[in-house]
Amino acid sequence: MQLDDLYRRVIMDHYKNPRNRGTFEGQSVTIDLNNPSCGDKISLQMQVEDGVVKAAKFVGEGCSISMSSASMMTDAVKGKTLAEALQMAEDFSAMMKGGSPEFEYEDIEALSGVGKFPARIKCATLAWNALRKGVEQAEQAGKQ
Ligand code: ZN
Repeated sequence: MQLDDLYRRVIMDHYKNPRNRGTFEGQSVTIDLNNPSCGDKISLQMQVEDGVVKAAKFVGEGCSISMSSASMMTDAVKGKTLAEALQMAEDFSAMMKGGSPEFEYEDIEALSGVGKFPARIKCATLAWNALRKGVEQAEQAGKQ
C-alpha cells in the first residue's frame, strides 16, 4: 500500500504510540467490534456525561491502519457532544468515499489515502463504527 510519506508517518506515530490505550475503572459504554477480513479487534470504552464524551479509551490488536484510526478517534471525540461525535463518524465515512471533509483533529486526514484501497477501508472504519454504536448505546442509556 502506497501512502503519502507524511501521512504514513502520522499513521505510524499513532500506531507505535497509541493515545488513550487502556480501560476505565467504573461506568462506561463498552463496544467490542472486529474486522474479520483483516483480523482487527477493538474494544472501545467511552465515558459520557450529559450528552458529552468526557473521555474514550480502547484496547485491541490489528494492523497499523485500524489501531492508528482508533488512537486518533479516541483523541478526537474527547469533549464532543454525541451529535458532534456522530458527525465526525459521518465525515470519516465521506472521506473513505473520496470526499475531503475537514477535521479539527487534523491527524485523521492522514487516513484519507486508505479510501483508495477498498480492502483496507474496513480497517480504518472499525473504530468509527464502534463510535457510532457507542453513541447509540449512550443515547439509549440517557433516555432511561
Ligand atoms: Zn486491518
